[in-house]
Amino acid sequence: TVQRVPLMAGNWKMNLDHLQATHLVQKLDWTLRDAKHDHGAVEVAVLPPFTDLRSVQTLVEGDRLAIRYGAQDLSRHASGAYTGEISGVFLAKLGCTYVAVGHSERREYHGETDETVHAKVAAAYEHGLTPIFCVGEGLEIRQAGTHVDHVLAQVRAGLEGLPAEKAASIVIAYEPVWAIGTGEVATPEDAQEVCAAIRTLLAELYSGDLADRVRILYGGSVKSGNVAAIMEQEDVDGALVGGASTDPTEFAAICRFRE
Ligand code: PEP
Repeated sequence: TVQRVPLMAGNWKMNLDHLQATHLVQKLDWTLRDAKHDHGAVEVAVLPPFTDLRSVQTLVEGDRLAIRYGAQDLSRHASGAYTGEISGVFLAKLGCTYVAVGHSERREYHGETDETVHAKVAAAYEHGLTPIFCVGEGLEIRQAGTHVDHVLAQVRAGLEGLPAEKAASIVIAYEPVWAIGTGEVATPEDAQEVCAAIRTLLAELYSGDLADRVRILYGGSVKSGNVAAIMEQEDVDGALVGGASTDPTEFAAICRFRE
């Protein structure tokens, strides 16, 4: 089987201005720059607000930090009369590696549908960005027991028509909505069940080889105290971390889950 490099991605949401961003990234780098942390073994990324990205770029490129970064959203369009929107072209120019697409907060508060998310996944690839494609069920669906079907339908919709050479690099984040920002973490077995089902679907849609390579993250109240048990699951290849990623000490501890 292929060794997938774990990815720990910090979604800051609408927190930290560009000065605070610089401070956090410096402190995070400093905390990770320890003999015990093997940069090659765990990939670390931050997803700051748009207005922080230029500052983060200057710091990461200037000091050659081993931290990647990306945005929390992008426009489905490349340019034009879309007031307030941010193009993937701009994000690529700022050195972004990743862009989150279809986060549950975008789906819930900004009316993003599976169709929107599909268009944004395509837009990310068009501009050379790697989508962190977010899926997950709400509490009612979880209670009805149809969460696996619900999530797989979201994955199918987002990937529809996406060629294998693009899909091979996608990152999928399984984030049960009832576990986001609630302190209610899914059990490691809950995370494994859905992440494994997503991998099986990727094998059906593409190939076993592609499915083996794609990283599938879990997100929802991940903290330094629960990350190790989640990371022990075979099909969980990292975490999308919200609240806990705005504290550099805590986020660094999450990134160092193996120690
Ligand atoms: C998120 O925003 O993607 C998330 C998982 O948030 P939290 O870790 O705060 O639950």
